[in-house]
Amino acid sequence: MENIQCEVKPLCDLCGSVGVVVQSGIADPDGHLDGSWSFQRCNNEACGVYWLDPAPLPEEMWKAYATYHTHSKKSEGKFGKLMLSLAQRFIKLRFLPVWISNGLKREGDNIRLMMLADEPKGKLLDVGCGGGRFLQRMKKRGWVVEGIDFDEQATKKVTSKYGIKTYVGDLITCALPANTYDAITLSQAIEHLYNPKETLAECLRILKPGGLLVMTTPNVNSLAAKIYGASWRGWEAPRHLHLFSVETLRRLTQQSGFAEVDASTYSAGAAIVYKVSDAIQHGRPPNWLAAVNALYLSYQQELHEYQAQKKQVHTGQNVLVQARKSSR
Ligand SMILES: [Zn+2]
Repeated sequence: MENIQCEVKPLCDLCGSVGVVVQSGIADPDGHLDGSWSFQRCNNEACGVYWLDPAPLPEEMWKAYATYHTHSKKSEGKFGKLMLSLAQRFIKLRFLPVWISNGLKREGDNIRLMMLADEPKGKLLDVGCGGGRFLQRMKKRGWVVEGIDFDEQATKKVTSKYGIKTYVGDLITCALPANTYDAITLSQAIEHLYNPKETLAECLRILKPGGLLVMTTPNVNSLAAKIYGASWRGWEAPRHLHLFSVETLRRLTQQSGFAEVDASTYSAGAAIVYKVSDAIQHGRPPNWLAAVNALYLSYQQELHEYQAQKKQVHTGQNVLVQARKSSR
């Protein structure tokens, strides 16, 4: 276990208001960092964001990513790994007809392309591009793609492996030229930022008039957050610094100057969150057979969550925001 130096965050750093602790006792889900974290919800009704308290000092944050998934691979036994991957294929086949018939398959396909399937192809920037698989997918579809990430190791790999132009560091300090991009994506990225508000303003500046911003982020009002409490994977302390609901992210995006803002939630891909949340709560499955069972249950939970949204709107696993810069 490693120590990471943190500072208390008594006030919302988006609006300066006080908040109320909504979840405490959150541990690092990867189990590498020593400590316990809370999330506060901002009391200001015009804001309402959730923020991590205490939060790592910016100069210490690298420790939280030293063992992150872009760097290391999980170490299951060889046989267990094989059985699990076979089981996963079988389970997916088992669920496929119902995914197709009720629209969950289409939702997943749309999210894989960050809702850009029907957008005219142009210049795309992915903020928080990680290992670059999304950018490579979009490049193949005819987009001119670029990526930015804090992780120098990851960006170098994206450039060497796919020949994609990348930038390292903070979007704002990169100072990219104004009115440049047709689309900007932040897939599971805004929650990692110290400066989400300033980053949205920067996205607006570098988008072309009429350009589209698409963001996904864990939903604090999701069914899984309610079920798992402190064990919900979406807290991801201390790497997630701000968390949102449909309402709070829509508001922040509007306040940043975007013209048309559409916000909703989705469940495609939620199985992994259920699976990991369950492992945080009850411990990892003791053998591969139990792991297969847990995998099956997680797909069932994803389907259940997807269907529950018809009655309880905005309770899907992730928030999706699509926002356009005014074309004038
Ligand atoms: Zn606030």
